[in-house]
Parts: sequence; structure tokens; C-alpha cells
Amino acid sequence: MQKIVIIGAGIASLTAAEALRQNGFDGTITILGEENTLPYQRPPLSKAYLTSDELPSPTPIRSPNFFRDNKVEFEQGGKVIALERSAKQVVIQGGRKIKYDTLILATGARPRPIDLPGESAKNVFYLRNLDHSAALRNALLAPECEKVAILGAGVIGLEVASAANLQGKQVSVFEANSRAMCRVASPLTSNFVRNRMASAGVMFYFNASVNQILTEGDRVSGIRLSDGTTKPADVVVIGIGAIPNAELAQDANLDCDGGIIVDSGMRSSDPDIFAIGDCAKAVNVSTNT
Ligand SMILES: Cc1cc2nc3c(=O)[nH]c(=O)nc-3n(C[C@H](O)[C@H](O)[C@H](O)COP(=O)(O)OP(=O)(O)OC[C@H]3O[C@@H](n4cnc5c(N)ncnc54)[C@H](O)[C@@H]3O)c2cc1C
Repeated sequence: MQKIVIIGAGIASLTAAEALRQNGFDGTITILGEENTLPYQRPPLSKAYLTSDELPSPTPIRSPNFFRDNKVEFEQGGKVIALERSAKQVVIQGGRKIKYDTLILATGARPRPIDLPGESAKNVFYLRNLDHSAALRNALLAPECEKVAILGAGVIGLEVASAANLQGKQVSVFEANSRAMCRVASPLTSNFVRNRMASAGVMFYFNASVNQILTEGDRVSGIRLSDGTTKPADVVVIGIGAIPNAELAQDANLDCDGGIIVDSGMRSSDPDIFAIGDCAKAVNVSTNT
């Protein structure tokens, strides 16, 4: 095993490259990332980015010397469009091919889209990358933005709700479930967070099913609930979960089911291909006794 190729340039990818070096791998490591930037942290995109007075610079995942110090080849702005497993190579947009002995898929996830009329209107936002965060920040800072509607009371939705609330906006959160963060938090934690945010002025609507994003011209003007109620909004943010970027694996006939299926060593159904981070689906074996 002399050449390892990693697709994706997020935290999973860089951590894997670092761990390979720390564990003595001295072959070639190549990271291929589709974004036109050095790898950056995503957590600040829904926090400090949205509330700071000036547009902050991206927070790098590792120092700029990381690639040189760890002898990692990094190609940015190159989307991998296919895996050719029999030839053990990947195809980059434009047609160039890169060979591997071992391939690591670290392609992350993307926001789950909402299938509603009005979803493509101006001032409707998803949040996953730097561009999304900058665009949302600009919209929230605009003086004409007074009312913000958040679809989904998950972590991203609540973080954006907090940021908008701190900026003095009237924030409403609409959640189809009966409580906040229901997939990741206990009812006790949900209630604590909801009460804390409600006391700061955020309005919550639970068991609320949004069935239309209302528009005036090309801009969003509000949302409509399935009971016919309408609520005005200048900005709508959709935070209803994420979908693993598993299409490369799927098209190459690797086992996938809501993510790239891997064993406890993160190995996919092809022994020469691993998947890590948000794109992978592994059984999380508890070490608690
Ligand atoms: C706004 C926001 C806030 C968050 N806050 C927190 C937090 O506070 N705490 C926490 O623990 N987690 C948080 N998360 C989640 C955390 O950021 C993710 O779990 C983490 O980024 C996953 O890392 P990853 O490397 O698997 O994927 P990603 O960070 O998504 O990186 C994958 C990279 O692969 C690239 N890629 C995809 N397909 C291709 C291709 N075909 N060719 C080349 N490149 C490709 C993508 O463009 C992307 O750059 C947050 C996420 C977001 C979006």
C-alpha cells in the first residue's frame, strides 16, 4: 500500500491524513477537495460568523503548513465525479484520473432539501458551507430584515435562531415534532433549551407542518402552515437535517443505505475503500459495560 487518496477536504479527511502519518505511513497521501479554499471549520458558520460585526475569515482546520509538514498533496477545487474500482482510480471533473492503492471517502453531507413551493425564492437559506453562511449573514444584517422563520428545531436551526435573536430579529421556529432537537437530546434538555430561548424572545411552534413558502415577486414573504395559518418572514432558514454525500459510492456499487455502509474499522464493502465522517454509516459500538 503506497498511495492513499482521500476524497473530501473536511475535518474527517485531514484527521485521517494526520493519523496515517502519526502511525508511520510513509507512502503518498493525496487529498482531493471540491471547495476552492483551504479546509475550514464548519461549527463557527452557524455561530460567530452570523453574529460578528465584520465578516470573519474562515477558521482553518489545521495550520497552513499542515500539508507541507505532513507531506500531504492537496488539490482544491477538483470535484471527483466517479470511482473506477476495477482500475483502482478516481476521475476528477475534466477527466483527469488518479490511481490509488487505498481510497478513503470523506465526502461529508449536504443539507436535506425541503420540497415546498417557494423553496427557491430569494432569502430562503440552507446552511452547510462558507458561501451559505456569508449569504445568510448578509440577509440577517440587512435593515429590512425584521422577521426570521426557521424551519426545523434541530441544532443548526436553533443556532441560527439564537444568532438572529441576538441581532434583535423577531425569530419564529417551526418544528414538525413535539419538541426541540428530538433526534439528539432528551426531553429534559429539549425543554431547557426551548425555555431558555423562549425567555430571550424566540417563538416556538411545535407539531407545526409548513406546507408553503410564501413569496412576493422573487422574494420570500412568509410561510403557510398546513392548518392554513400564515406567518410573515423576511428571511427563511431551512434546517431539517443532512443527507450523506454517498452518490460516488452508490454509483460504484458499494453498499449504501442512508450513508456508505462501513464496518467497525470504517471499511466499506470494497476492502480497498474506507468511508469516514458524515458520509459513513457505521454501527457505533458502545464501550460502556
Ligand atoms: C453550520 C454547521 C455547524 C456545525 N456545528 C457543529 C458543532 O458545533 N459541533 C459539532 O460537533 N459539529 C458541528 N457541525 C457538524 C460538523 O461540522 C460535521 O460533522 C463535520 O464537518 C463533518 O466532517 P466531514 O469531514 O465528514 O465532512 P465535511 O465537513 O462536510 O467535508 C466534506 C468535504 O468533502 C467535499 N466533497 C464532497 N464531495 C466531493 C467530491 N465528489 N469531490 C471532492 N470533494 C468533495 C465537500 O465539499 C466538503 O468540503 C456543524 C455543521 C454545520 C454545517
